[in-house]
Amino acid sequence: MRTIPYGRQDISERDIQAVADVLRSDWLTQGPAVEFFEKKVAAYCGAKYAVAVNSATSALHIAAMAADLGPGDVLWTSPNTFVASANCGRYCGADVDFVDIDSRTYNLSVEELEQKLATTARSGGKLPKAVIPVHFTGQSCEMDQIWTLAQQYGFIVIEDASHAIGGEYQGSKVGSCRFSDMTVFSYHPVKVITSAEGGMVLTNRDDFYQKLLLSRSHGITRNPAFMTEEPHGPWYYQMLELGFNYRMTDLQAALGASQMDRVDEFVRRRHSIAERYNRELSGLPLRLPWQHPDNYSGYHLYVVCLEQDKEVKPHRQVFEELRAAGIGVNLHYIPVHTQPYYQRLGFHWGDFPKAESYYRSAISIPMYAALRDEDQMFVIDTIKEVLR
Ligand SMILES: *Cc1c(COP(=O)(O)O)cnc(C)c1O
Repeated sequence: MRTIPYGRQDISERDIQAVADVLRSDWLTQGPAVEFFEKKVAAYCGAKYAVAVNSATSALHIAAMAADLGPGDVLWTSPNTFVASANCGRYCGADVDFVDIDSRTYNLSVEELEQKLATTARSGGKLPKAVIPVHFTGQSCEMDQIWTLAQQYGFIVIEDASHAIGGEYQGSKVGSCRFSDMTVFSYHPVKVITSAEGGMVLTNRDDFYQKLLLSRSHGITRNPAFMTEEPHGPWYYQMLELGFNYRMTDLQAALGASQMDRVDEFVRRRHSIAERYNRELSGLPLRLPWQHPDNYSGYHLYVVCLEQDKEVKPHRQVFEELRAAGIGVNLHYIPVHTQPYYQRLGFHWGDFPKAESYYRSAISIPMYAALRDEDQMFVIDTIKEVLR
């Protein structure tokens, strides 16, 4: 039986040609295609700089390094995210804590953030050095308010926009960093555009940009302006910091840059799929995605929540019946603080009740640009059948 996945890539002949052209060129590793891809995304988003890396996980890590997170520091993020949004703090030796979600958007709640900052400050606790709001499903967090709190409490803001390329917030593209210090994108194949594996950090700050470049490639510079002594010769480079090899290949960048030509088309298509779901699934005992008026979503995911007071069948049963019918539903996300690794760090079930209650009702249904109309109709009919 064929399964309709919850997400998948859309690769065109032009994408394939772009990758093949790189294979015939002199550069396979990070080279001109990476620079081209970076410039294209930065220009599209209206950000000054973009640094491409081999995954969004790496992008989050080097962004956390640029924010100078280290032992004794604290990073706050949403419990309703992929583990990588929290792990980047741990890679740097920092502590991680979470801010519960807004029950309408499932994003990190600004009210909870404000309260937690105030209580932490009042009790003389450790304020976060960085906060990572995650634009869940592609819907931007309320960045205006988060940015105001960042100025007030002095933390760095890194947007995890892995779901949100092509989206907008208050009329600016997500990635413009208008209300943040850095923004991270993911180019994993289930996301809005893909480079197979890949990620990127955008920023408007020169100092962060230089740090990101160093961390991406072993902490090495070839720029004499940053060296501690005169270059010994044309071969000379210096390792200034402990960095990594997080470089993206030119093959991946060629695919990513080619996909960027269709990002608006992809997001428009995702919106039209969402509108059809909104229409066809209304009237069922489901909570459909609520959209904040300040936001134009990238629509990486379409999440429905079973209305618990009108429960027809248990959540797990609905999920299993949809899977059995060939719908590749998924669940985004298992609250990060409940993962055994984070429980060992002292978190418990019950710590972030809104994220946990959301988790007990959420189902991600198929959403991707290449989803065919008849397949979407099959998804709709099957959901109606299962919830009858
Ligand atoms: C996919 C994703 C990541 C990790 O992306 P990779 O490119 O697979 O490393 C991080 N954060 C969120 C919210 C994601 O959805």
